[in-house]
Amino acid sequence: MRSSQPQARLGPPTIRSGNRAGVLEVIRRNQGISRAELSRHTGLTHAAISNIVGELLEQGLIIEDGQSSAELGRPRIRLTINATRYAVIGVDLARSQIRAIVSDLQGNILRSISAASTYDHPVEITLSTLTELLEQLLADCGELCGRIVGIGVGAPGPLSAAEGTILSPPNFGSWRNVPIKQILEERFGLPVFIDNDANGCALAEGWFGAGRTFEDFIYLAIGTGVGAGIMTGGVIQRGVHGIAGEVGHTTIEVAGPHCTCGNYGCLELYTSATALVQAAQQAMMCGEDTMLTDICAGQPQSMSVEAIAIAARRGDLLSLRLIDQEIQYLGAAIVSLINLLDPQAVFLGREVAQAAGDLLLEPLRALVAKRAFSVAAEQVQILCATLGNDAPVIGAACLVIQELFRSPERVLHAERMPSR
Ligand SMILES: [Zn+2]
Repeated sequence: MRSSQPQARLGPPTIRSGNRAGVLEVIRRNQGISRAELSRHTGLTHAAISNIVGELLEQGLIIEDGQSSAELGRPRIRLTINATRYAVIGVDLARSQIRAIVSDLQGNILRSISAASTYDHPVEITLSTLTELLEQLLADCGELCGRIVGIGVGAPGPLSAAEGTILSPPNFGSWRNVPIKQILEERFGLPVFIDNDANGCALAEGWFGAGRTFEDFIYLAIGTGVGAGIMTGGVIQRGVHGIAGEVGHTTIEVAGPHCTCGNYGCLELYTSATALVQAAQQAMMCGEDTMLTDICAGQPQSMSVEAIAIAARRGDLLSLRLIDQEIQYLGAAIVSLINLLDPQAVFLGREVAQAAGDLLLEPLRALVAKRAFSVAAEQVQILCATLGNDAPVIGAACLVIQELFRSPERVLHAERMPSR
């Protein structure tokens, strides 16, 4: 049995680090806050706040940024996140593209690089593309390189964020149990954090986008896949096995086709960008009279959600039918999500929302108002996400920033490998 001494030592640092993370979170949400206001917000004593603020200033995570004269009495020193002392890398490992950025701690993109990819490439090829991309990014960073403290990776789920392993995403080729965290940490000597792309997008919107004023919301990612990031009380919900939010693989048609996830009639099979494009291509190849033939210059392979949205705005019957079908399926799913989770807001994001958000939003709001429980339907906001195509990479960067704020030592003092 352990002696009491080490156990007694475990308590205070844990409470202190918890308090420190709490203080950082309050500063992040209330940039320019004073020490006295921090004390009121957190319930911590002035002395405790003074100690923690001193530690955070020393670590370079916050700065004193001028004085506030808004309060009575003597001016108070304003505290803000030190956005530029450290930088992080965010990687979006998507089905059709790999993109990597360097971001500051406020989600501002400082460098960006991308490469085409395809999910049916062997894992080794994709990993080699990813490694080359990161090497190029670091080579382009110059002195910024020394400020980079970690790599965040957003990838299709399901994955184990705790283990850092991509498990078995549907429609992601031969990716099965790939220990991406270990691979990248060994190669780049930086701590690596992973999460599924929808969770990353929800985090990014919550910190730097449309979700800043909400604590309970759903980010519905409607891209080549469909998934949701669920934020409850400001915390992403992962579930026991990390599959919470896989709404794209809930049945929307009981008699629907088999999905690669194992289920039948999944929402993703009807509403993803891939599904929309395939339906339009099929109709075009069957000779249906549509403006899409002109927009795509007669080439079905040029079909895109953007083309469908353009044609729908011009009144093309096929495109309007496809958009209406999208609204019906998405609407049913959103009503279920609202009845299940009772959020403040639902944000529509990724490729389909980017291209056709204006066509989807009002009909979806009307459908939700009619079908969800009225107490929720009257108040829930259905909105388009605001970070656009940057949400996945900023979300991946947020994975590192989140960990840096929770546990600065773990990130800043992570063992650096000699290969870097
Ligand atoms: Zn499925």
